[in-house]
Amino acid sequence: MHTVRTEVRVEGVVQGVGFRPFVYALATGLGLTGLVGNDLDGVFAEVEGPEAAVAEFLGRLELQAPPLARIERVTTRALRPVRSASFVIVASESQTGLRRTLISADTATCADCLRELADPADRRHGYPFINCTNCGPRFTIVRDVPYDRPLTTMAPFTMCERCAAEYHDPADRRFHAQPTCCPACGPRLRLQNQPGLKNQLGLDHHENPIQAAAELLRRGRVLAVKGLGGYHLAADAACEQAVAALRQRKHREDKPFAVMAADLAAAAELAEVDEAVAALLTSPARPIVLLPRRPGTTVAQATAPGNRQLGVMLPYTPLHHLLLAAVARPIVLTSGNVSDEPIVYRDDEARATLKGIADAFLTHDRAIHVRTDDSVARSFRGRPMLLRRSRGYVPEPLAVATGFPRPVLACGAELKNTFCLARGRHAFVSQHIGDLENAETLRSFTEGIEHFRRLFDIDPQVVAHDLHPEYLSTKYALELDLPAEGVQHHHAHIASCLADNGETGPVIGVAFDGTGYGTDGTIWGGEFLTAGLAAFERGGHLAPVPMPGGAAAIRQPWRMAAAYVADPEVARRHQDHWPAVIAMAAKGINSPLTSSAGRLFDAAAAILGVRDAINYEGQAAVELEQLAETLTPAETRPYPAAVEAGVPFTIRGSDLLHAVIEDRTDGVPAPVIAARFHHGVAALIEAGCLLMRERYDLGTVALSGGVFQNLLLLSATVARLEARGFRVLLHSRVPCNDGGISLGQALVVASREAASRS
Ligand code: ZN
Ligand code: ZN
Ligand code: FE
Repeated sequence: MHTVRTEVRVEGVVQGVGFRPFVYALATGLGLTGLVGNDLDGVFAEVEGPEAAVAEFLGRLELQAPPLARIERVTTRALRPVRSASFVIVASESQTGLRRTLISADTATCADCLRELADPADRRHGYPFINCTNCGPRFTIVRDVPYDRPLTTMAPFTMCERCAAEYHDPADRRFHAQPTCCPACGPRLRLQNQPGLKNQLGLDHHENPIQAAAELLRRGRVLAVKGLGGYHLAADAACEQAVAALRQRKHREDKPFAVMAADLAAAAELAEVDEAVAALLTSPARPIVLLPRRPGTTVAQATAPGNRQLGVMLPYTPLHHLLLAAVARPIVLTSGNVSDEPIVYRDDEARATLKGIADAFLTHDRAIHVRTDDSVARSFRGRPMLLRRSRGYVPEPLAVATGFPRPVLACGAELKNTFCLARGRHAFVSQHIGDLENAETLRSFTEGIEHFRRLFDIDPQVVAHDLHPEYLSTKYALELDLPAEGVQHHHAHIASCLADNGETGPVIGVAFDGTGYGTDGTIWGGEFLTAGLAAFERGGHLAPVPMPGGAAAIRQPWRMAAAYVADPEVARRHQDHWPAVIAMAAKGINSPLTSSAGRLFDAAAAILGVRDAINYEGQAAVELEQLAETLTPAETRPYPAAVEAGVPFTIRGSDLLHAVIEDRTDGVPAPVIAARFHHGVAALIEAGCLLMRERYDLGTVALSGGVFQNLLLLSATVARLEARGFRVLLHSRVPCNDGGISLGQALVVASREAASRS
């Protein structure tokens, strides 16, 4: 038979995921000879043997790849056969030139490791740091590339003989698993910081830190637990007193805590879990999934006060698995921080910051290199919808077909900030950085950019930023010695939605959010755009209203109600303050104009008495959604809103509020009013899109902006648009909130460049 030799190059996430042993096994199984190795581009191989066997090899390469591999491209080239006698794994080639290999995200403990963890005969039985090529920490422990143990935070741990043997055995599941370790050589868990711990517990916490930690939780204590991307704070989810204490010590008034349940069955006892949700909960990324809460569960009221949703996640590290099994009930697991500061991840800062909150620390000696929060998702129509894309997803790049002519750095917005570095076909969106409002978050931002630049070998030639001159991300961008390009906030939202769907537009972009700087210097946020990636036009928007007191109007929704309806009789509270605020708005004193949809929701919430002042961003709208009753179609009488047909057209949001007031006066129950308001907003979006279609002849609508995190609004809007024959694009992999802005900015700048070149 005809003998051939073929060179194969594989790009993508192919290092540190068991790809070479897989190639080795596949090739030798087919009786092929040759070699396989790693280089900066990924994995390369040369396979030699009968033509049919080589073809078989190539066919199976993508189909049977290891679970964590993400193959982006396979290229082949014919070589002259050299009659090699065997198949070998060769040492890495020189590591100079442009790095193209990708680093895997942190991945939940795999089934094989869980089996070993539970097996008393296994040498890693009960070992909280068990991992293998198919699972474990990655992004959070990587200091630099190439992805090799000395460049991870596992460097201080020297492998014992048995671990080293596995590490070097191509037939072993731990072949080249960089974080591999065992009780003899790896990190150690310890429970500390509570004086007299042993006497209190009656068991030796040095001997068995997990049992001791579980015992503390069961006794209603608050525990700091070192995780993958930072410290969590834990409490027994069924213990009202413990959760309330945690809330009080953390200075977090209302924002919901997430709960970790031992497994799918335990999660399903707390919340409604359908098939799509189950897939999301058990996915290797293990995000927190926001779910409809079941009534009558044991979850403490203080976990998610007044909320019909519950954030649920499953264990993703061996430590979580062991702890949950020992506690034997769900625990609250929330970021280790004080109020709005970023999650702590260094041991010394954890000790300092959390000592007033946690009664004890369950910690270990493997350092966390990159602070990475848990990801947060929802499921919409059976599809995941990421609200925070972080641990488990980052740093996997998003492939962008149109590509980036020059490497780009995009700095994102202010709240829920992420940045994005892009090159070639890859956009690397950072982990959730947080609100760029304090020094610590800003440090995460600047250090994160440096880290990504090094890791992915991206030397940006242009920097993209928001138009808001006061955003710290804008200031950072303008201080760099690079050509800087401003991208309008809502254009970036729509561009990110296009990228999320692999589309380029043009589309009708509906960008509804809280705040975004407009090209006219006013604050936008209820926008109908015609948008492609390179350019946009403002086709219509919500009629602007003053925001009396500026930022104060964001914190105090009642001010927006006063600005919108200008009638103190409507006030639920603060009635004596209304006249002054109404006058302030009328005179335009410290009252910037806004077309924000978020502020319209705020006003409605205040008028309904839901909330006058907020403790976290978007709280009034969240609570309004919670309040809303599910209506039968007959009850769904959406409030009308007048469209004033200029160019751009404007839609009078105040009409909705007057309808709210009318219903309130008529004694319509608040949950019905809240629902009708949502359907009213959906109806005004429909009206705006119909007008856009008439004027611009576009049939596709992209929905973006934080307001669409509201599932009631989203489902009502999508239903209406689809009934009108629109094709609707939604977010899935990238948040619709400002976490998606950096990706949109990067795409807009790249597309402008591509457009100006052609
Ligand atoms: Zn594993
Ligand atoms: Zn070992
Ligand atoms: Fe926004």
